[in-house]
Amino acid sequence: MAEEKKPSGEKKSGKKKVDTASFKCSNCGANMTFNPETQTLYCSHCGNTVDFEKKQAKELDIEQGFSKDRLWESSEATLFRCGNCGAEIVMSGEEIAKNCPFCGTAHVQKTQELPGLKPSAVLQFSFGEDKAVELASAWAKKRFFAPRKFKKNINTDNLRGVYMPSFTFDSKTYSTYEGRIGIEHTHTVGSGKDARTVTTVEWQHISGTYSLDFDDVLVSASKRLGQKTTSKISPFDTNASKVYDEKFISGFMTYRYDKDLTVCWGEAKGIMDKIIRRKILSKYSYDRLDYLNVSTTHSEVTYKYVMLPVYIGNFNYANKTYNFYVNGSNGKVYGKTPKSALKIAGVVLLGVAVAALLLWFFLKD
Ligand SMILES: [Zn+2]
Ligand SMILES: [Zn+2]
Repeated sequence: MAEEKKPSGEKKSGKKKVDTASFKCSNCGANMTFNPETQTLYCSHCGNTVDFEKKQAKELDIEQGFSKDRLWESSEATLFRCGNCGAEIVMSGEEIAKNCPFCGTAHVQKTQELPGLKPSAVLQFSFGEDKAVELASAWAKKRFFAPRKFKKNINTDNLRGVYMPSFTFDSKTYSTYEGRIGIEHTHTVGSGKDARTVTTVEWQHISGTYSLDFDDVLVSASKRLGQKTTSKISPFDTNASKVYDEKFISGFMTYRYDKDLTVCWGEAKGIMDKIIRRKILSKYSYDRLDYLNVSTTHSEVTYKYVMLPVYIGNFNYANKTYNFYVNGSNGKVYGKTPKSALKIAGVVLLGVAVAALLLWFFLKD
């Protein structure tokens, strides 16, 4: 079984991420993992590297996606669930998930459930864990209220590379709209003591059509790395994503989607609607908007089910777990850091002291 075999070249940090049984080194038989630095499979035991073909990912017809023609076979992948925080991790082939990337615990259990839709594209990691630690540390340094312990303790033990599920959508939209906008006019009425200004609104009916093509509107398919966090570490250059290949995933974890194609397409339409409304309104100058009704049809809709590269860090402070995220493609960092009570108290005391000093300065004469 895969669990028994560990390459002896494994890092000494004691972190057992994954056993990668899928790709054996032809030199020494150890497991090979994807190395973001060289963009090849890499054997950490003997240093062997093996390149592989990376094909440009294609857009897929959304109707075919709805018919669920691209599911994982039960033999291809296994679903693991963290007993501590509930995170769901998909491991391909015979890989075993051990530590949970979100809470850092080892309470990760294999389930009998099917992992669902199979990814069609992957935006691969472009740098390794060491650089992710560097980037996260530089980010943490700038967080003034973060405790020193947090800033000093970002390392490869509490950071893991995880592929996060997302959908991208292309659509050619055609909208018809009608609405009412108002332009304000202010006049002065009366004179002398009785002069006052009044505002009148000149209402105007608007209507028309609007066409807009969307390319790769990104919707997070995971509640854990939701839309907000995804946009904080965006952009992800999904147009550069490659056809999904398990070799990219080897050595990393994949998080299962909690929102399916139908739900995510609904969210994508919501995102597109907002943009269309904004674009239509930007054609007019107005002070007030009474209403705007927009009706949009979508055509030539395509999607990609893309795995996004994210390093997830976890840090425990005062019995709470804090996660921070590093975009594994462009290095952008975002997260919530614990706040040091001591530092906050220090700043409050300093503020009080400054206020007291100012008071004394102004009252002393
Ligand atoms: Zn080897
Ligand atoms: Zn967990």
